[in-house]
Amino acid sequence: MYLFVYGTLKREGVSHQLMESATFVCKTRTSQKYGLIDLGPFPGVLYDLRISLITGEIYNINTELLCKLDDHEGEWYFRSEVEMENGITAQMYFLKDIPSSMKNRSFVIPSGTWEDEMGENTRGVKERILYGKNDLAQGHKDTIAYEVHSNLYLNITNRCSARCTFCIRDISDVVYGYDLWLSREPTLEDMISHLSELDLDKYKEIVFTGFGEPTARLSVLLRITAWLHEQGIKVRLDTNGHAALINPDIDVVKELKQAGMAAVSVSLNAQTEELYEKLCRPVFSGSYQAMLTFARQCIAAGISTRMTVVKVPEIDIDACKKIAKDMGASFFAR
Ligand code: SF4
Repeated sequence: MYLFVYGTLKREGVSHQLMESATFVCKTRTSQKYGLIDLGPFPGVLYDLRISLITGEIYNINTELLCKLDDHEGEWYFRSEVEMENGITAQMYFLKDIPSSMKNRSFVIPSGTWEDEMGENTRGVKERILYGKNDLAQGHKDTIAYEVHSNLYLNITNRCSARCTFCIRDISDVVYGYDLWLSREPTLEDMISHLSELDLDKYKEIVFTGFGEPTARLSVLLRITAWLHEQGIKVRLDTNGHAALINPDIDVVKELKQAGMAAVSVSLNAQTEELYEKLCRPVFSGSYQAMLTFARQCIAAGISTRMTVVKVPEIDIDACKKIAKDMGASFFAR
């Protein structure tokens, strides 16, 4: 039988010695898109995440080796039959889910190709996995850009590093008449191609916002920002301010400044860390301080910075306004 391998069982992989009795057939890719996840020393593939064709190698193996490999892969994986680009049908291992102990250390590999030493460049080629209400929703309209008043809003992800108790996503699928759940995240090419068809000069601002945290897709955000900035268009980022936690190896504010980000609107949403934890339920510990630091760094970098709060009873709007003012940011209560 055929087995398709895409990680450490490949010829250059650290576990390849297990394949001693297997016969190499060919290199190929899957015919369907899946989500290749970097879990550190080894990868996994999520069946329901439609991101890229997965690159790997096909081997001819016997049942005895298959049993041995099932043991090796362990309880985190299941096996399924998959069709390859070249017409071969092969067994392939999939992740049942991201193991909870690895959720903060897992990245999507958009290329679909895993190497033992995955590098991370300054544009965040690997994208950290985060969890929102729906992860990737199926059957929605994929609104990637929408007009409200005189602005154009961009919706590049549904992932978020918080689960705010007041999040509009939990109340409605629709904002200003637009369904913002995505069945798949738009690629950079999707975004540029869509934006190229619009008369961008007519908008006052182009704003990254939508049903998710835009810095969860930092590389795409930076590239679109730079592309718009080159055309003299003002770009704003609406953010929860967790960018440094989502992209720990990247100087996010420096990259935003370099790309030409003109303004940021940071969700403050609480006068104390304790209240923030209760209301915003962030994925990462230290999110409140990280959000404040992000805002301070944006101000220091000369990016126009606004802090916002949602009008809910627990939030002391005057206290939040003072935090923003002391910092040198403008303030808005929604
Ligand atoms: S940060 Fe924004 S998108 Fe994320 S959960 Fe909170 S309100 Fe929703």
